[in-house]
Amino acid sequence: MSTATWDLSVAVLCAVVALMLAWPVPIWLSRASWPPRHPALALVLWQIIGVAGGLAMIGALWLLAIALFPRHPWLAGIPAAALAAYLLAHLVAAIVSFERQRRRHLALVELLSVPDPDRDRTRVLDDAAPVAYCLPRAASSVTVLSRGLIEVLAPDELAAVTAHERAHVEQRHEVLLVAFRAWRRALPWFPIAARAESEVAALIEMMADDVARRSQPDEVLARAILRVADSGMLGTASAERASRRRDRMHDRFQRLAG
Ligand SMILES: [Zn+2]
Repeated sequence: MSTATWDLSVAVLCAVVALMLAWPVPIWLSRASWPPRHPALALVLWQIIGVAGGLAMIGALWLLAIALFPRHPWLAGIPAAALAAYLLAHLVAAIVSFERQRRRHLALVELLSVPDPDRDRTRVLDDAAPVAYCLPRAASSVTVLSRGLIEVLAPDELAAVTAHERAHVEQRHEVLLVAFRAWRRALPWFPIAARAESEVAALIEMMADDVARRSQPDEVLARAILRVADSGMLGTASAERASRRRDRMHDRFQRLAG
């Protein structure tokens, strides 16, 4: 087999992998019924799909150009390098935007809330709406509860909500959300990127639920979820809406119902 034929074969193989990871594999995963039982595994698969899909796309573009223009390898690398730079730029922009938003949100929380005398690393917002979220802050985190939430929830429900929100920060869920948000923004015409983001957001909620379930009974957590507007800074409330093919919010309650 000549070098050119070999290059073309590898390029086609790379393109097939990229296509598989761009359409049938994510569709299968988003329609599957098992992710609510194994959210961590499903999250790993979404990350593999995202990273491997991007690399396969870049690799296919590069190898195809080399196979077509073997005498100009540097020129052939330009489209692949441009795609890599485009994806990387969106990732950096998403990280910078998240960090700016996090700092602004923390400054507002410091201004508008008071320390909770009964709970460690917790601040209380003078707001009648039931709101709870957790923000990463230096080496630790700050949990924000609204006055409305404290009034409406029983102590065990409040403990479940706090454990859930802290799990988001301790497991660094914002890193995953930022990466998948960057992917969606880089490829706004690509519906799978939006689906991946909403699936990842739903799975992250289940992971945080699993942490809360270690300290509180499932029915307490389910009751608390129904009463709380889970309004994290990364828009988890909107992300918790169902993905297009499966109702992940329903899945979330189903797993709490046993
Ligand atoms: Zn949550």
